[in-house]
Amino acid sequence: MAELPEEFNCTITNWEYIYGLCRDVADEVRRDEFEPEVVVALARGGWFAGRCLCDFLGLDDLTSLKMEHYVGTAQKTGEPTVRYPMPEGSVEGKDVLVIDDIADTGGSISRAEAYVEQRDAGEVRTATLQLLDTSEFEPDYVGERLAEWAWVVYPWNFIEDMVDLLSGVMEKADQESYTADELRHYLAEYHDVKRIEMEIAQPNRLPEVLAEMERRGVIEGAGPGEYRLAE
Ligand code: ADP
Repeated sequence: MAELPEEFNCTITNWEYIYGLCRDVADEVRRDEFEPEVVVALARGGWFAGRCLCDFLGLDDLTSLKMEHYVGTAQKTGEPTVRYPMPEGSVEGKDVLVIDDIADTGGSISRAEAYVEQRDAGEVRTATLQLLDTSEFEPDYVGERLAEWAWVVYPWNFIEDMVDLLSGVMEKADQESYTADELRHYLAEYHDVKRIEMEIAQPNRLPEVLAEMERRGVIEGAGPGEYRLAE
């Protein structure tokens, strides 16, 4: 997330909530009487949703496509491109549902749809669990529309995102060292992540994240209960 502005709102989610969005997307697909033969899950954010959709819709054909768009975690560099092509025969002649977690500009999913279509697929439709109103692309199925832009912290990359968020916060606040409570304070101030929201979505995870940051050499201990960015 290094290239996002220093202050932006984040929403912390959990498995139950996201699983509910997967079910909502599956319900829409069924209501629409679309019967895909294969799900193409965009790596890596679409994987969980892709696997759940196969379960909800009774499919055993799941494949993956990796789009590349970001440098670091969150810097956009023009048109998204396909990083790894799909294996021969994955979609040819089949009706396909392309799924991703969220569309921001919509570039990734729209490019993925075009790529799958070029591979002589049958009917190709698209879905995202969440859709930001910045998206220029309208997927066929959407779990939830977000009226306000936010960085959504998904349960499958909770640690990855929290490491980025906490190191960003430490850099910006520019204190010598931080207690866990001070870090919570800055998460609320810079990213609108309130303690209660984080503890409801992901209870007791802050110590785990701090320990992992220490293990990865991102932070170091600075006295009892205090942390600072590693040199
Ligand atoms: P788009 O091409 O729609 O702009 P992106 O390329 O921005 O989509 O997004 C690529 C991936 O980055 C998404 O699949 C998602 O995993 C992640 N991502 C983008 N925006 C957000 C966000 N606001 N919150 C969480 N993850 C995001």
